[in-house]
Amino acid sequence: MNNKCAICDNKRKQYKNNTFAKTCGNKKCIITLRKNTNIKKYGHVCNLHSEKGKEQVKNTLKNRYGNNIINVSQIECVKKLKETVKQFYLYHHKNL
Ligand SMILES: [Zn+2]
Repeated sequence: MNNKCAICDNKRKQYKNNTFAKTCGNKKCIITLRKNTNIKKYGHVCNLHSEKGKEQVKNTLKNRYGNNIINVSQIECVKKLKETVKQFYLYHHKNL
């Protein structure tokens, strides 16, 4: 069994229950591995930043709300929801 970190040459981190992490436990390695996984899966470090992700979001919006909606903030109920959330926080903030 390969005991090396997926990113560097250090040994993989061992958990208390005797299983191994995919990396040595170093934050840099963990982040790099996550980025690599996303690049493999989505072609970009973050799914929503990839062209495919953006297209998906647009298509979903179009299908649900019509052709001229390209952003959630254009949807009336989202505007209302935002306002409700704002009021909720204001209310609870005052009463703290
Ligand atoms: Zn490492």
